[in-house]
Amino acid sequence: METPKNEKFRDSIATIDDKGKRAWVFPKKPKGSLYKYRKWVSYGLLAFLFASPFVKLNGNQFLMFNVLERRFNIFGFPFWPQDFHLFVISMLIGVIFIALFTVAFGRIFCGWICPQTIFMEMVFRRIEYWIEGDRGKQIRLSKQPWNTEKIRKKTLKQFIFLVISFLIANVFLAYLIGGDRLIQYVVDGPTSHLSTLISLIIFTGVFYFVFAWFREQVCIIACPYGRLQGVLLDNKSVIVAYDHKRGEADNGRKKFRKNEDRQALGHGDCIDCFQCVNVCPTGIDIRNGTQLECVNCTACIDECDHIMENINLPKGLIRYTSEDNIEKKTSFKITPRLKGYIAVLVILTGVLSGMLFLRNDIEANVLRLPGQLYERKDNNIISNVFTYNLVNKTNGDIANINFKLLSHKGIIKLVSTKASFIVSKQDIAKGTLFIEINNSELSGDRNTLKIGVYSGENLIETTRANFLGPRSYN
Ligand code: SF4
Ligand code: SF4
Repeated sequence: METPKNEKFRDSIATIDDKGKRAWVFPKKPKGSLYKYRKWVSYGLLAFLFASPFVKLNGNQFLMFNVLERRFNIFGFPFWPQDFHLFVISMLIGVIFIALFTVAFGRIFCGWICPQTIFMEMVFRRIEYWIEGDRGKQIRLSKQPWNTEKIRKKTLKQFIFLVISFLIANVFLAYLIGGDRLIQYVVDGPTSHLSTLISLIIFTGVFYFVFAWFREQVCIIACPYGRLQGVLLDNKSVIVAYDHKRGEADNGRKKFRKNEDRQALGHGDCIDCFQCVNVCPTGIDIRNGTQLECVNCTACIDECDHIMENINLPKGLIRYTSEDNIEKKTSFKITPRLKGYIAVLVILTGVLSGMLFLRNDIEANVLRLPGQLYERKDNNIISNVFTYNLVNKTNGDIANINFKLLSHKGIIKLVSTKASFIVSKQDIAKGTLFIEINNSELSGDRNTLKIGVYSGENLIETTRANFLGPRSYN
């Protein structure tokens, strides 16, 4: 069956031409109030991104994701592999949050917060405008032969792109290995840490490839979140949308002519100027309806508002709204459904924050040495051997650590001459201990002990361990 004419745009993507080759997008430089707000949000987020691996809170790096050594800091809180359950729950909450947020507010994240959009549109694209000029000049430059002007501009642009990619790669590395360590490596000189240097060169290459060449293709074909839009959005989701009722009216869009009564002729407010298409960084025509390629960057809103102002029509032909609002010609309202979603999002954020703040500062594990049975000693004493593992997640040393049995009468003997020890800040202490209990205290061969971990006389953590005894035949 032949595709209807107005649905043809669904047969191909705007960035691939008829021969299957990449159709390079030369978006017009956006301007307008939303672009201004986006610029400030972007600069704030860029400052946050570049500063976070070098800023310290309570002596901890503000954000760190050291996957290799399995050490993570989130907002200055150190996380250990032992906190993995918290990590999994945070991830689950994060996924639910993203799903609900997208159902309610569409792809706002992509346009305002996503690092790909911010770097592409607010850093690399702005350098491109600065060196090569706006859309028209860029198109002319790409078509002209390789003369001195073209070589100079292209070389300068690619060189700056490479330098910025290198900077981003350094920051990325600071998140992975830690800001202090990165600075130390720079001081030591690149050849002292060859493997890190190779990683840095690879990261630089990847960022350069993405921002100099791959660009909008990340959002169109590579980003998993982008692909999710098809299942998350519905006609009540708030998105960047073209008001086709107003734009097309009864007899469709039409070029603008002075002194023509468009309303009487049945034409809509869209004057088919194509400025919303020219400004789009993913090369799509928003007038075709909601499309996966749209990253909700709002550039077409600003551009169309500008056109509407020039022809004395109300702004908002393209705006943040839902398809439902457009069909019913109603304005955007916080519906009970949206209120419900917002309530769930607030609760989830509260749960996550609570979990992060209520997390234990010390983690204790006492496990029976595998393969060891109990030992019978004089005076009906039964002894088991255990290993202990203490993680100090705080920024201070914990001194005078000792163990006490809380559930049974008995004694705990550390396999060292000292009765107590210190766990340094953000360190792990491991060792072996014996627990001795009189057989009369035990109930059969399997007993669960409750063990208290003390710093001096202060109970700082409790844990449980299984204790083996002689089998009871009563
Ligand atoms: S910018 Fe506005 S008026 Fe111009 S084509 Fe796009 S929707 Fe129509
Ligand atoms: S359609 Fe509009 S909001 Fe969507 S990506 Fe293009 S310019 Fe941005």
